[in-house]
Order: sequence, then C-alpha cells, then structure tokens
Amino acid sequence: MMATTHALFGMALGAVALFVAPEYATVAIAAGGVGGLFPDLDLAGDHRKDLHFPVYYSLVATPAFALAVHAPSSVTVAAAVFLASAALHSASDALGGGLGLRPWEATSDRAVYDHFNARWVAPRRWIRYDGAPEDLLVAAAFAVPGVLYAERLQVVVLALLGASTVYALLRKRLVDFGESLADRLPAGLAAYVPVE
Ligand SMILES: [Zn+2]
Repeated sequence: MMATTHALFGMALGAVALFVAPEYATVAIAAGGVGGLFPDLDLAGDHRKDLHFPVYYSLVATPAFALAVHAPSSVTVAAAVFLASAALHSASDALGGGLGLRPWEATSDRAVYDHFNARWVAPRRWIRYDGAPEDLLVAAAFAVPGVLYAERLQVVVLALLGASTVYALLRKRLVDFGESLADRLPAGLAAYVPVE
C-alpha cells in the first residue's frame, strides 16, 4: 500500500477521537497521519524491516492507549494514536504486495518483517501493489472522515489524496523512468537512484 494510504488510514483512526474526546481530535488526527507515514521512512534502508514492527508497535500501543484513557493529554493521546497507526501500517503491509521493483509481477514472498518471530511475512496481495487502483480506492475511502470532519487538517487530507492519485496514475511509468535515469547517470550517481 502507498504510504499515503497508511497516512489516511491513520487520520481516519484519529478521527474516532471526535466521538470520544473531541478536544483532542485535531492532535489525534495529526498523530495518526504521521504514525501512518512513519514506518515507510525506512525506504532508503532495509525497507519494511528497519521501521516496520507489526508485533512490537502493537505491544507498546496497548499500554499507551490505556495511559491516554486514564490520563488524557495532547501528549498521551498523540503517542497512543501514533503507535496504533504505525502498528496497523506494519501489520497491514502483509495484505499488500511483496518487495521488489515491480511488485505487480508478484515475484517476492516478502511483505513485511516480523522481528518478534524473526521471519518475513508473505504478501497476501489483497492490494496487489502500492499504487494499484484498489489501493487508491482504499485511500479515497479512508479520506472521507478527514474531508468531512478534520476541520483544520482537511487540506492535508486532500493533499494526501491528490498525491495518491498522481502516484497511482504514474506508478508503473515511474519504474521505467527510474531505470532509464539509472542507465544514463554515471555509476557513482546511479547508486543513489532508488530502484527498489
Ligand atoms: Zn510500509
């Protein structure tokens, strides 16, 4: 799934605060968005391993939620929603495609690394690859609560949805472009062009 799909899901998760603690809704929605993006910051490293913790984020999110319920503040609410969003991002990556330059070819059996069991979880491919039409559809669905209710963050939700749409439209061409760019660059520079 696209990082933006995870961010929009995190924001929708944060929007639940509108019903239980509306005074913290904005901070919860923002924290959900950042927590949804966070694991994919490992894109430049060992992707879906370095910052993806499907088990550990969940283990830490549970007491963080308990703390936010018993001692609600901007900090405790933000921490709880951030961790829950990062946990759901890491776990739901198993429902997408595998690693690799062209995940739609379904050649990889690695979706996300489970540090707890020290093994790669296989991709389910419910969403075949990041930027697939079904990925954009899911992103659009998760954007609905933010568009309707996230007053101050509405523009962020719309920007994420816009970025998702452009990415989904260009997804396959981006790979070809990256490859032709890598072919034309001097070897030293080409090492910095992400091809996976
Ligand atoms: Zn991810």
